Amino acid sequence: MNKLLLIFLSVGWLQCQAEGLPDLGDVSQSTISPKQERQLGEQSMFEIRADKTYLDDGEINDYLNQIGYRLAANSSEPSLGFEFFAINDNAINAFSLPGGFIGVNTGLILIAQSESELASVLAHEISHATQHHVIRMITGQKVDSIASIVAIAVAILAARSNPEASQAAIMGAQGGAIQRQLNFSRTYEQEADRIGLDVLQKSGFDPHAMPAFLERLQKATRLQEGSTPSYFRTHPVTSERIADIANRVQQIPFHLVADSLSFNLVQAKLQATQKSRKEAVTFFSDALGDQKFGNQIAQRYGLALALLRNGQAARAKQEFAPLHELSTQNPMIATLDGQIRQANKSRDIIEFYRTATQNFPQHRALSYDYVELLLQGKRYDEALKLLNEQIIGSPSDPRLYELQARCYAALDKRQEEHHSIAYAYALHGNLNGAIEQLELAKQSGSDYYELSTIESELKEFREIAEAHVKH
Ligand SMILES: [Zn+2]
Repeated sequence: MNKLLLIFLSVGWLQCQAEGLPDLGDVSQSTISPKQERQLGEQSMFEIRADKTYLDDGEINDYLNQIGYRLAANSSEPSLGFEFFAINDNAINAFSLPGGFIGVNTGLILIAQSESELASVLAHEISHATQHHVIRMITGQKVDSIASIVAIAVAILAARSNPEASQAAIMGAQGGAIQRQLNFSRTYEQEADRIGLDVLQKSGFDPHAMPAFLERLQKATRLQEGSTPSYFRTHPVTSERIADIANRVQQIPFHLVADSLSFNLVQAKLQATQKSRKEAVTFFSDALGDQKFGNQIAQRYGLALALLRNGQAARAKQEFAPLHELSTQNPMIATLDGQIRQANKSRDIIEFYRTATQNFPQHRALSYDYVELLLQGKRYDEALKLLNEQIIGSPSDPRLYELQARCYAALDKRQEEHHSIAYAYALHGNLNGAIEQLELAKQSGSDYYELSTIESELKEFREIAEAHVKH
């Protein structure tokens, strides 16, 4: 059915078996190929996507990818297959997993005072990835199997996002000693800073943002210290490190780099969704009333979003009105526009979404909402067509398969329905559930070709599940 997704899943689980990776022996004696490094990252991502701290927000992750790709294009390995994602955690932190997977905590996104500051952290993490620091550290340890490496990679993540989970994860890995050694060394930090600075500058961001943000992070994390693992425990900083970067940027002439509107919108969306509904309404009303600080478009966006979430659709429409004209220019504005129109039962809604999804074909949040609307209108074929296009662009997005399954269910196509659910489950890390759904798909159809496809997928999924049990 969907070869792309299967390839995606296979890269994570199967090929490491095919290549005999679980029997690596003493990894410190061998080298890990870029392909194996990628597999480690993929495996870690299965765990992360299944974790409740993974921020399942297409808009915010799309934004991080957009900034991330712009930076990665100027790195030494633009084709590494980078994936950027947000972790819903107020601890100020960011991390780099093997193979180009880069996570950023919401706490760090919110504390950035400019897009260049956020980009400076991404550039630093990209440089850890292109310098293969995690792998270089892991191969320096006495680690006896690929399973341990995955456990350690996940422990790194856990340690960075959740102190309690990290304790358990580290016990399951190779003990706290390794965890401590896995925190980047000063040499690696300095390397990531220097290369990151170069990447930041080449990508058109403000290089002066890097030392400024490091300094502010140092102050902010000092306050957080003790409660959560901080950016500087996982990326040790010294005043020396900040001074080194400050010296380097001194020679670079200053020029103002404006933030994109999306940067401000992402921060507003995080604030609107992290506060309670009432608090968010008050917060943005006050901010707009002050007319002193911040970006007023983003504040208005935040207020309209908060009102909508608080069930005040008519007022949301009213507050949003001045932003209408931006709806054809920014996909996040268009998405909120559509949601407010829907809540107010606007008549031209299908036409609105048809145009908006044409304007912003890559913006998944718009497609989610459009498909929901098409489902309500029983326009299943249109919904399926849109979903199939989206799946080609984002084969690892479980929500697209969930929506696809609902279309098939409505059309009474049981086999296809179970098939789609199987993919959604697999991407959420529920492999046993995926196998069960493939079994159901097998029982619900008679087409020989379809059945043989399902049969071969079942075999592959079972192997994936077995590999999973091993660690
Ligand atoms: Zn670092």
